[in-house]
Amino acid sequence: VQRDDLLARLTAALSPTQVRAGDAVAEEELGDESLAAPAPARPLAVVRPRTTAEVATVARLATSAGVALVPRGSGTGLSGAARAQAGSILVNFAEMNAVLSVSASDHVAVVQPGVTLRQLNEHLIGSGLHYPVHPGELSGSLGGNVNTNAGGMRAVRHGVTRHHVLGLELVLADGTVLRTGAPVVKSSSGYDLTQLVIGSEGTLALVTEVTLRLSPVMPERATVLVPFATLEGLAAVVPEVVAAGLEPSMLEYLDLLTMSAVTQAAGIELGVPVEVAAATGAYLVVLLETRTAEQLERDLADLAQLVGARGALDLYVLSATVGPRLIEARERAFWVAKAAGADEIVDVVVPRSRVPEYLAEAADIAARHGGFVSGCGHVGDGNVHLSVFAPEAGARHALLHDLFAAGLARGGQISGEHGIGADKRELYRHLSDPALLALQARVKAAFDPRGLLNPHLGVGA
Ligand SMILES: Cc1cc2nc3c(=O)[nH]c(=O)nc-3n(C[C@H](O)[C@H](O)[C@H](O)COP(=O)(O)OP(=O)(O)OC[C@H]3O[C@@H](n4cnc5c(N)ncnc54)[C@H](O)[C@@H]3O)c2cc1C
Repeated sequence: VQRDDLLARLTAALSPTQVRAGDAVAEEELGDESLAAPAPARPLAVVRPRTTAEVATVARLATSAGVALVPRGSGTGLSGAARAQAGSILVNFAEMNAVLSVSASDHVAVVQPGVTLRQLNEHLIGSGLHYPVHPGELSGSLGGNVNTNAGGMRAVRHGVTRHHVLGLELVLADGTVLRTGAPVVKSSSGYDLTQLVIGSEGTLALVTEVTLRLSPVMPERATVLVPFATLEGLAAVVPEVVAAGLEPSMLEYLDLLTMSAVTQAAGIELGVPVEVAAATGAYLVVLLETRTAEQLERDLADLAQLVGARGALDLYVLSATVGPRLIEARERAFWVAKAAGADEIVDVVVPRSRVPEYLAEAADIAARHGGFVSGCGHVGDGNVHLSVFAPEAGARHALLHDLFAAGLARGGQISGEHGIGADKRELYRHLSDPALLALQARVKAAFDPRGLLNPHLGVGA
């Protein structure tokens, strides 16, 4: 296929309403939520396939014309990965949005990639089951979640996306359709290509179906707020809460500034007495979920004793209305940081025992470069989310370099869940072992020999 013919061939193969170009392309579907990645450029076309066969046709035609493909879910990603590139084909999965099946006995759901988290959760209401991975933005799609290996607040108990994907249907760049994995809980049957594709940021294959593992819903729950005098003091208690076997469903920290900003934005009154609030430097939020009310009472008492002995200023069990509202407000922290003018959001992950020293060093690094960091995060996973305020590009680059290098030096990783994307491309490549990058490039070449899937990203390049 000649490059000039590609648009006509795509329109002939799909329907004209599924292939848009020029002014018919809406600006909203070209970007994602990255604060710092290069702006989206005009693609050759946006296609909206409805079936796997259509995806395969799009891939085959684009590859034969040598045109890059940018897969897109809901565009809620924070790393610039799904941003349209000049002259590329943006594959928008929004219309492949059916929940194909749910098996209550096998605890398995099969979904198309454009199904959103909100849609899946709503579909499962009344089944006694839920999909327990909870990245804060529920409009995100399962295809996007798979490709970023999305994490979120429930990872401390349930793990991340990769722990809940049993199999995938894939379309390779040349149009080959294949299945990996199976709806079973174990497999020892060759390379685990499912896991290789998870977190690959759309650089290896187009995901056209996802087989997910579900979990039983725990009926009893309590949201607990624990103020601490310092962030470091809070972070030091976290490994003990995890080790106590309380299995919290969420274990989040919010520094003082972030807590004030998100509660104010959401209009929530937490009811913390003035004298306690005045002494507080950071808040721990714990969600406990159990099968029985008795177990919940016991776990609450154990948690109170544990944190009380380790410097908590107090402990509040929030009401059934305020608890969920606080969690929702915490989910909106990104929008609050964006509205406050944050220049970048980083999500470095370190072993949870090293969070206190990492947070202290992050504050020093920011100050050294004339910037400022503030945030919240999945402290039970060692995953901090720092809003970086550093408007001058050179200083910001140096600041981010040092934040990533400090995370790596503590046995961590540059991104816990948002991905490398276009955003962190240069620093990721600069800070990674060349042998690792070379092996990733060979894996990429095995899936996508012409390098047409998301070639603008740092992974697999
Ligand atoms: C307010 C807010 C809160 C957030 N909180 C969290 C959080 O707690 N935890 C977390 O992990 N993330 C969080 N995120 C980030 C984001 O929601 C996740 O990265 C999510 O997985 C992106 O899904 P998406 O459908 O929007 O993907 P997109 O942004 O559209 O795409 C993400 C990546 O997946 C690829 N892709 C998408 N669909 C496919 C497909 N079918 N086949 C191949 N590749 C594909 C894209 O090319 C891109 O590389 C948050 C974002 C916002 C805005």
